[in-house]
Amino acid sequence: MVSKAELMEERLIRKLMTSMKCESCGQNYEVYNIDVLGHREDLWFLRVHCSACHTQCLVAAVVKEGRMPEAVTDLTETELDEFGDGVIEIDDVLNMHHFLKGFDGDFSRLFGQE
Ligand SMILES: [Zn+2]
Repeated sequence: MVSKAELMEERLIRKLMTSMKCESCGQNYEVYNIDVLGHREDLWFLRVHCSACHTQCLVAAVVKEGRMPEAVTDLTETELDEFGDGVIEIDDVLNMHHFLKGFDGDFSRLFGQE
């Protein structure tokens, strides 16, 4: 079962990911280029696909409580209120992005630990 909070987090993550650029060609990702694979607690895993050069990569994003979502500029105030004060740390996204370059994509094992 997916909670409303999870749906809002997923939406926020998609919004934030559109501010990231493809490492290969510099094209900004579009919302429809982003697949949310799943999450473990505050750590969300995504697969992004560049519509310009067709490079795919895996990205992890961390949602943390207690900070204003600085990187998100195009959510309405109502959406922010519904979401609360969670935020994706863009530095963590980038760090995990590099970490995941060596990741084999075995998310079933990763998510199967519960
Ligand atoms: Zn690209």
